[in-house]
Amino acid sequence: MAENPFFAPSDLPYQLPPFGEVREEHYLPAFERGMAEHLAEVEEIANNPEPPTFENTIAALERSGRILDRTATVFFSVAASNSSDGIMAIEKEVSPQLTRHSDAIRLNRALWARIKQVTTDVPEESWLLEKYRDDFIRAGADLSEPDQARLRELNEELSKLSTEFAQSLLKASTESALVVTDPKELDGFDEAKIESLRKDDGTYVLPLLNFTNQPGLAQLTDRDVRRRLYELSVGRAPGNFGIAAEMATLRAERAELLGFPNHAAYSVADQTAKTVEAVEQMLGQLVGPAVRNARKEAEELAEQAGFAIEPWDWSYYSEKVRQARYDFDGAAMRPYFELNRVYRDGVFFAATKLYGMTFTERPDLSGYHPDVTVFEVFEEDGDRLGLFVLDPYARENKRGGAWMNNLVDQSFLFGLKPVVMNNLNVTKPASGPTLLTYDEVNTAFHEFGHALHGLFSQVRYPRVSGTSVPRDFVEYPSQVNEMWATWPEVLANYAKHYETGEPMPAELVEKLKAAEKFNQGFQTVEYLAATLLDWAWHKLEPGETVADPEAFEAIALEAAQIAFPLVRPRYRTNYFAHVFTGGYSAGYYSYIWSEVLDAESVEWFKENGGLTRANGDHFRRQLLSLGGSLDPLTAFRNFRGREPSIRPLLSRRGLD
Ligand SMILES: [Zn+2]
Repeated sequence: MAENPFFAPSDLPYQLPPFGEVREEHYLPAFERGMAEHLAEVEEIANNPEPPTFENTIAALERSGRILDRTATVFFSVAASNSSDGIMAIEKEVSPQLTRHSDAIRLNRALWARIKQVTTDVPEESWLLEKYRDDFIRAGADLSEPDQARLRELNEELSKLSTEFAQSLLKASTESALVVTDPKELDGFDEAKIESLRKDDGTYVLPLLNFTNQPGLAQLTDRDVRRRLYELSVGRAPGNFGIAAEMATLRAERAELLGFPNHAAYSVADQTAKTVEAVEQMLGQLVGPAVRNARKEAEELAEQAGFAIEPWDWSYYSEKVRQARYDFDGAAMRPYFELNRVYRDGVFFAATKLYGMTFTERPDLSGYHPDVTVFEVFEEDGDRLGLFVLDPYARENKRGGAWMNNLVDQSFLFGLKPVVMNNLNVTKPASGPTLLTYDEVNTAFHEFGHALHGLFSQVRYPRVSGTSVPRDFVEYPSQVNEMWATWPEVLANYAKHYETGEPMPAELVEKLKAAEKFNQGFQTVEYLAATLLDWAWHKLEPGETVADPEAFEAIALEAAQIAFPLVRPRYRTNYFAHVFTGGYSAGYYSYIWSEVLDAESVEWFKENGGLTRANGDHFRRQLLSLGGSLDPLTAFRNFRGREPSIRPLLSRRGLD
């Protein structure tokens, strides 16, 4: 095993992980050695005979665990994007071990005693020290021995359940896929789309995306096929209902051990929201108007359809109303949204205009799959900034949705520049160019906003690098970056016909903008229903169990006054990966919480002349470069020059 590529730092540029050398059999030995090495380092720090200082305790902890960090970074990136039976088996084995490992450090009494004695006057250090103290207390460092023993059991059980939930969800996307034998049933899809769904056995298989309203519902003309697709979507992975209920009960017990009335209170305490009341006060302002808007939209759809519509009809008829009212045809736009052009002439172009940065493809560098592309990123003056890695396509072994992750964290401590990655789930055409939907274009800009947060990071310590900010803040820079997708100068630069190079006709652009506010009631209710469902699960009282999770779900939505049969939650319990696998438990509210800051910032950019280097530099200096090294709301105030107001958000979503 001397050849294990995780045992030494990568010698590729920017320490890009050597994906080409990594084999499945490298992971377990690397995890094993990584955890052992990390524990030995931590023991040495905890038992250092010297008096505790920031340098020999906190900075030393930041330096520890390098093999484990390298291994886990690559493994979980591959597990999310390019999994296999072997990877899934390793994940099942290693997840509870990693939980035990992290508990062994956070519940180490000698170490905790030392951390409590550290003092410092350096602002950056004292902020990090506070973070460490908070992390340890939240992990149970101050609990009695028996309580800590129970906590370890709970954490391990939760980690197992979460892996099970994720794996059955991944399988469900194909196991619960819509299968038809007669292509006529797919009427509404274009030829190329139908062809891309055909399997060797002559059937046509439409896999599920990870949210309720499958995109196909907007196009499929056969009402019964729509019903089947919808029911497959909401009913997938039924075993996950029980897992979710069990997790919610265990999380409530853990919250009580840690001194909180429920998991929601525990979860928001270290966020910018801080309290359950703050979140509920915010959501309370949105629910009523959003449901009213959705009901109004439903009436228009029924009128268009000529009958009382069902949930699987919503997207289909809203597309019809959109076409009738705005003469807007989503499909007519796709030839103007070719994947490579969207990135090079859109996403990257906007970043160059704002920040001066430039991008060069590095075909000599590669990822874990041939469809992964690596770009080197430079400052305006030619200084090297980092790497941007892009994996745009959906695969059966890739989890749903879109996300950003770091392959290398920026830190001055290690002298490392960032390597950041964006994952999308765009269907790869059987042949020819990849044409995106407008939603996918928007997602590309969104995820790149996270990438900027990672690439611009200028901090000393890895713990606060880049996107290591509270999760109800992390969506803010990414949402701001969405504004450039339709910014005239940017749109004109990338929205060109893939065959003729003709710019998108002005009237299509106008329609795109006019239609943006359309269907906002639906989108807001769908989002809020998921948020309030997440919230209900995590306000369970300690000791409470849920025997019938589906009934619980229905009652929770009713109680939150968001129940509306035509608009189900964006995620039901059984496929709510954000909260049962993804670290967003009692945290799905974060998107709209961040959107308050986003809407404020979009206003700021508009007030100050939009797409300029000066504006980009201001946003970069006051916000993007700071990572989590400063109180996030202070950073926002320094950028915006005032406290955030909810008004721009209400107006954007038509809720005022
Ligand atoms: Zn995001």
